[in-house]
Amino acid sequence: MPRNVQSLGEFGLINSVKKYQCPTSFVVHGIGDDAAVLQLDAGRYQLFTTDMLIEGVHFTRHAPAKLVGHKALACNISDIAAMGGLPTCAVVSIGLSPKLTVRYVQDLYSGMSALAAQFNVSIAGGDTVRSDKLVINIALLGEVEKKCLVLRSGAKPGDMIFVTGPLGNTLRSGKHLDFMPRIKEARFLVEYFRPTAMMDISDGLAGDLAHILKASGVGALLESDMIPINPGATLASALTGGEDFELLFTIPSTCGKELIDYTKNQNRFSFIHVGTITGKAGKCLLKDRQGLISPVVVKAYAHF
Ligand code: ADP
Ligand code: MG
Repeated sequence: MPRNVQSLGEFGLINSVKKYQCPTSFVVHGIGDDAAVLQLDAGRYQLFTTDMLIEGVHFTRHAPAKLVGHKALACNISDIAAMGGLPTCAVVSIGLSPKLTVRYVQDLYSGMSALAAQFNVSIAGGDTVRSDKLVINIALLGEVEKKCLVLRSGAKPGDMIFVTGPLGNTLRSGKHLDFMPRIKEARFLVEYFRPTAMMDISDGLAGDLAHILKASGVGALLESDMIPINPGATLASALTGGEDFELLFTIPSTCGKELIDYTKNQNRFSFIHVGTITGKAGKCLLKDRQGLISPVVVKAYAHF
């Protein structure tokens, strides 16, 4: 019987299409990070990312249109933040039912536009098609100074692992619709602390950390009582819930200690130390409150 998509899983499927990439010298890094990295000029790379939201999967029909628009752009901006860059220009494609009110579409765009204005992003085009379910796909360009680019692949044994905020319970609390992409935090980090690896948490801490471990050829030890969780969240939902859109990054331990000190002395940013990178490639361990260490077995959110 032919294999179906579910049998490969989301990331197995993405891996299986890597061979069709048609690489050119224009593409510095293709499939595998939060955004593609493209040549721009002597000092900067162009970043290019896309994310799609579908009614019933990423939002319900009862969600306020402004928040759906906000989320559609925010998750793209979050991917640019994860590379250390700044977003510049978006195109927005929508699939919608002929019965949808014009007011809904206007509200969707006003949510998007309010966020775009905050981050100096221009909405420069798109496409409009008929669809039974509402679909919004945004493709976003960004830029990053070459020295500020952070990939998923640079984590080293001994690096400290940080997140930028509390995790878990984002779906029930509605936070998944209303989050602020961590551009300011990312730019502060690339300017002053040079993370070795970074990504945004869209599929849960455990699953997303696994992507950094795989790309970097390292392991990790997480400490359960250091992982910040949202009100009403469990540790399991922080590890596997997803749609947190906080940044997850690694940093050499000397800088990590400075970052902890910095965090204590201000209230602009929050950088929370949650564990350490180890040399045990691919192994993610969790130390519980009693000091017992066991493998993280929980699975991340995946579409299939
Ligand atoms: P993120 O959650 O950061 O948006 P994903 O987990 O969706 O990233 O994707 C992981 C990587 O796989 C990214 O580099 C993305 O561009 C790539 N990717 C995802 N889906 C496809 C696809 N259908 N075709 C080609 N590349 C894809
Ligand atoms: Mg991402």
